[in-house]
Amino acid sequence: TTTPSETKLTSAEVVQITKDTNYGTWRYQKGWNPLHIVDAEGCYITDGNGKKYLDFSSQLMCMNLGHKNPAVIASIAKQAEELAYAMPGYATTTRAELSKLLLEVLPKGLNKFFFTTSGTDANEAAFKIARMYTGKTKIIARYRSYHGSTSGSIAATGDPRRWAMEPRGKGPGIIFAPEVNCYKCPIKHTYPTCGIACVDYLEHMIRNESDVAAVIVEPIVGTNGILVPPSEYMPRLRKICDEYGVLMIADEVMAGWGRCGTWFAMDLWGVTPDILTTAKGITSAYVPLGLCATTEKIGDFFQDHYFSHGHTYEAHPMTLAPAVATIKEMQRLGLVERAKELEPFVEEKLQALKAKHRSIGDVRGKGLFWAVDLVKNRETKEPFNTYVDKVSGKPLVVDQIAGKLAADGVMIQAWVSHIVIAPPLIVTKEELEKGIDALDRHLSIAD
Ligand code: PLP
Repeated sequence: TTTPSETKLTSAEVVQITKDTNYGTWRYQKGWNPLHIVDAEGCYITDGNGKKYLDFSSQLMCMNLGHKNPAVIASIAKQAEELAYAMPGYATTTRAELSKLLLEVLPKGLNKFFFTTSGTDANEAAFKIARMYTGKTKIIARYRSYHGSTSGSIAATGDPRRWAMEPRGKGPGIIFAPEVNCYKCPIKHTYPTCGIACVDYLEHMIRNESDVAAVIVEPIVGTNGILVPPSEYMPRLRKICDEYGVLMIADEVMAGWGRCGTWFAMDLWGVTPDILTTAKGITSAYVPLGLCATTEKIGDFFQDHYFSHGHTYEAHPMTLAPAVATIKEMQRLGLVERAKELEPFVEEKLQALKAKHRSIGDVRGKGLFWAVDLVKNRETKEPFNTYVDKVSGKPLVVDQIAGKLAADGVMIQAWVSHIVIAPPLIVTKEELEKGIDALDRHLSIAD
């Protein structure tokens, strides 16, 4: 017999083995030197050397409850003891509990649920549903959007993460509309005199294309720069979709779950999409879970039509239990209201930062979901780097700033030419100040 090795890997060994044996997106390319994370609690992460970091972007904008929430941890342990797994076709108590809670928090009218294991496959499900339900093929997506990494969801991704898959991976029937970006309008208009020309453009596309099944939007665009549409945009898009019989899909993978100061970003405008996809904050990222929610009418369509989509891990009890605990914790702690209350505080701080640093072209956001957009020149709004630099592996100015912040004890997500501020919703004013002050110290790299 052999006895299991008691030897604990050193931090250096952990990093080396990880580097030697793993591959993936550009994060893992040449020069990848991952930090060894050993512990996390609340808004803080600890590395293998005992150094603590303020988690200022909730990892990938997903740990909304913060780390080590006791109720979520207990829910996982309890579920494992009671029922670790049952086939998707069975009813489970956890699934019923979660469905009841979803009816409380989702935009009214969304009451049929399909549980996936990520945001990517929630969107994959949404596309299939839209195509089967309407009998049409084309999906209109927008540039500067991200919808996931499987064949269908990457094909609908408007940002250049799609490029590596083209032409082989380009799914049929996806067409792109201009994004909504009032800071740097892709069709060179100015709000409000534009009359929301970008949504008129979308209508023009629908009118001039045959066979359009759906439009997919991130209600507030996430990784591509926290792009907040003007208040008229979503209600107008809803009307257009209704007029032309096109389904509206809201991808709330990142923007949902209190991040924008409302349960879902669509609540900001009181608009109910036909399909809402989400993941991340649904379990505060404690376990992988995604959701594709639809109206009753669409859900019922699949009572007598075979939905060719399903997974072994669909509605997995171990993923649903922490979602129940997450929603209850968010309600108990009043985190949606908290994100709303902290919004003016963050806005004021970031506007002050903008007044001080000429490299900041714009700050924008909602709730606890903000971007600091960096430019070489405020007049021309030229960014420091572009996607071409990112794809080519050229060092980015925002990554240098993020590196300095990490050395200073603040972890932040940086993307092409902007920085994302999205701390756990439990963050305190003092912690917000701490993170923004650290950013203030290191923006000189860009000024
Ligand atoms: N949609 C949006 C808006 C996202 O931000 C993401 C991930 O960041 C996805 C979809 C894909 O979700 P996942 O990474 O869970 O597959």
